[in-house]
Parts: sequence; structure tokens; C-alpha cells
Amino acid sequence: MPELPEVETIKLQLRENILNKKIVKIEVKDKRVLKQIKPEEFILNVEGKTVNDIFRRGKVLIVKLSKDLFLIIHLRISGWLILGEKEEKLARVIFKFSHNKILNFCDQRVLGEIRLVENWQNLPIIKEMGPEPLEIKREEFIGLFKDKKTKIKPLLMDQNFLAGVGNVYAQESLFCAGIHPERSTQRLEIKELSKLYDCLISILKEAIEKKGSSVDTYRQIDGQEGNYVPFLKVYQRENKPCFRCNTPIKRKTISGRGTYFCPHCQK
Ligand SMILES: [Zn+2]
Repeated sequence: MPELPEVETIKLQLRENILNKKIVKIEVKDKRVLKQIKPEEFILNVEGKTVNDIFRRGKVLIVKLSKDLFLIIHLRISGWLILGEKEEKLARVIFKFSHNKILNFCDQRVLGEIRLVENWQNLPIIKEMGPEPLEIKREEFIGLFKDKKTKIKPLLMDQNFLAGVGNVYAQESLFCAGIHPERSTQRLEIKELSKLYDCLISILKEAIEKKGSSVDTYRQIDGQEGNYVPFLKVYQRENKPCFRCNTPIKRKTISGRGTYFCPHCQK
């Protein structure tokens, strides 16, 4: 699933390519991705609008159109966006632009979502979202853990706790900080949370620089894979030697998600 660095990459690349461009035609190939709006209504409201801004909140992409309408694009598990000259095979919704570019919303399992709203801030998914990790200070990050009594890894992935962190970057940050993914947050020391903050920030920033991790269907908007996978330290490295201590990396299902960690380095 695309996480903060992947959606940030898509945002930056879309900004370079479709900002101030007009959407001249829309084709809805699979109406299941449109939420709370009928295809006819969607087409009627979006065709002819100009892209005025593109921003991100957590893993959600927000496209501001003229007339103060907002396209809310959530790629979820298996969605991706391709901008090019042609229609893609797995496109569910196609946006054709005035400069002859075509934006394809592709989705293999049709779990992604597109919405059209006037007040994006009022959407429950946005309203309940935790702070942006790259926008909060160390003290604020540490403060989030006050009174929390749960395993650290599922908490990091909880979008209402912290926005944008998912399965991959939660594991990588915990390895970097030397914290076992099942550690109870009650037993974490301030200096450990401080280290986790540094790890999370530097990993997210580096992953954005490398244009994300293509561990699944995620692609940059030109269809190329992201470049961060070779830099992953534990994710999908079961039985391979830990980069720090050579102990074989372990995999365990934690709160339903496959989790990789070093049993020696992470306490
Ligand atoms: Zn190790």
C-alpha cells in the first residue's frame, strides 16, 4: 500500500505536470471506485474544471479544482496513477487534459477510492487523522504516546494516531530505533521515543528523495518503480542477515500484518 513517501512523490510529480491544466474529458470505466457520487454527476462536475492545487494529507491525495471542488484520491491497497499519452489497461477512471496528457487511475483489486467534495476537511477520514509526522516537533511526537497502552507497531500504523505511516515505514523506523515491534508503548523511555522520532523523520525524507518503495503496485506517475527498496533494512528480508549484527531477520504476524525485525537488535 502506498504510504506517505509514495503519495508525496505522486503529489510532487502531479504538481509538475497537471497544475493549472484543464480536465477536458473523463471516462469512468469502473464506477465502483467513485464513492458517494454517480458517474454522470461526477463527469458533469469535473469536466471543464482546472487543477488549481494538489496537496496531500496522510496517504490521501487532494486535488483542488476550480469552483472550489476537491477531488479526494485514496489509492488504498492496490491503486496507482499513471500520467501519459495513452489509456492504461487497468484504468478505472481516466482524466484527459487540455495538454493531451491522460491521467489513469488504475487499481487491480478496485479498493481505491475517488470522491468529489466541497469541504475536504469535513471528510471523516481526514477529520480523524493524526498529525503529519514531517510537520511535528520532537516534543509533540513524544507527547502523542502519553497514556497509550498498546503494541508500538500497530499504533504507529494507526492513521488517527499519526498520518501516513504504514506497514513498511513502521517496521523500518522500529529497526532503526532498536525497538521491538511488539514492545508496549507504556514501557518505552523518552530517549527511545526521541530516537524513533529521528529514525522516522530521516527514513520518510530519504524515501521521498528516492521516490518511494515499489514493494507492490506502487509506481511513479511515469510508470517507473520507486528507488527506495534497496535501502530497506528489514522489510521482506526474512532469514537474511541483519545489516547490523548478522542475526537472521525474523518475520512474525503482528495485529494481522507481516512484520520483519531483528530479534537481537530490537528489544
Ligand atoms: Zn541485528
